[in-house]
Amino acid sequence: MTIHNTDLVIIGAGPAGLFSVFESGMLKIKSHVIDTLEIIGGQCSALYPEKPIYDIPAHPKVLASELIELLEAQAAPFHPTYHLNQRVEKIDKNSDGSFLVTTSKNTKISCKAIIIAAGCGAFGPNRPPLVGIEEFEGKSIFYAVRSKAEFAGKNIVIAGGGDSAVDWAISLSAIAKKVFVVHRRDKFRCAPESADKMKKLSDSGKIELVIPFQLDGLEGSDGKLSQVLVKDFEGNVKNLEADYLLPFFGLAMELGPIANWGLNLHKNHVEVDASTMQTSEKGIYAIGDIATYKNKLKLILTGFSEAALAAHDIYKIIYPDQVFHFEYSTSKGVS
Ligand SMILES: Cc1cc2nc3c(=O)[nH]c(=O)nc-3n(C[C@H](O)[C@H](O)[C@H](O)COP(=O)(O)OP(=O)(O)OC[C@H]3O[C@@H](n4cnc5c(N)ncnc54)[C@H](O)[C@@H]3O)c2cc1C
Repeated sequence: MTIHNTDLVIIGAGPAGLFSVFESGMLKIKSHVIDTLEIIGGQCSALYPEKPIYDIPAHPKVLASELIELLEAQAAPFHPTYHLNQRVEKIDKNSDGSFLVTTSKNTKISCKAIIIAAGCGAFGPNRPPLVGIEEFEGKSIFYAVRSKAEFAGKNIVIAGGGDSAVDWAISLSAIAKKVFVVHRRDKFRCAPESADKMKKLSDSGKIELVIPFQLDGLEGSDGKLSQVLVKDFEGNVKNLEADYLLPFFGLAMELGPIANWGLNLHKNHVEVDASTMQTSEKGIYAIGDIATYKNKLKLILTGFSEAALAAHDIYKIIYPDQVFHFEYSTSKGVS
């Protein structure tokens, strides 16, 4: 079995993890990045890729998906190795102070330091309990919208009653052939302006509200949907013609294996020394949403600053015999 060797393992490819690749790369620290999701970008990619963010310094407005593309490009000169679609399960400490990180796909990486940038923990979608759903997942059933263009001219069934369901119904109704919104009651848990907007689109026929109904079954073959079956509380079944089903029932978030790594935790977050971002375990750091300390602000920009703090402390582990000379990126350049 191959064991990869690197300086730093970054757990989580959200904005904080991606910026860690850059900050550590600038200090000649090589990194591998691991994420449970099959794409990089954390919450920005999984939850709100098409939403604008307004509080990234020097970007008056940037789409979450664009921010991730920019962070990926900024990290690229340092050639990080990404291990996606796998969760970090285990961290073993070796007698020389180094670590062995093991993932759910049995990828093993030996490293001298670890940054946990795991957001709210490993997350995955709440999947509706429909018979045979696996056949369609990733082909015509998606839990997140990566690219709107794919849905142009198609029949789309959106299920759920929260912000994601309503926002995507509004957004996709502009390009889709037809959008059905299936929800089990007539109240939506979303911003009131969005509910009003959806109601107007439903009055004009752009969206069909299928209420109060629940998902009941799927029809189609070879991963291609043809019908989504829905049922009301009296047992009446309707068939909705569908090319795609987008169930938005929220994400199940759990700290997962992080809870077993022997770190000091506080309310499901990892406690750190805010001056270095080191956890209670020497050589293991935590940054971004998962890290907690007094007056912590859960913002992307906070995660960026924490990535810089952690990288500078990790430099001492990777290069114990070298005296550190601080240099701005303008004088150092990007190698
Ligand atoms: C709708 C919405 C709008 C938002 N708007 C803003 C905004 O305008 N401005 C702002 O600053 N913030 C905003 N946020 C918050 C912002 O997205 C988060 O603060 C940010 O994503 C945190 O980044 P992160 O890198 O710490 O973690 P995340 O983005 O949560 O990424 C963590 C990654 O770690 C992975 N992971 C977890 N555990 C493991 C494991 N054991 N093994 C492998 N991988 C693992 C997860 O799969 C995930 O991909 C918003 C959030 C939401 C939901």
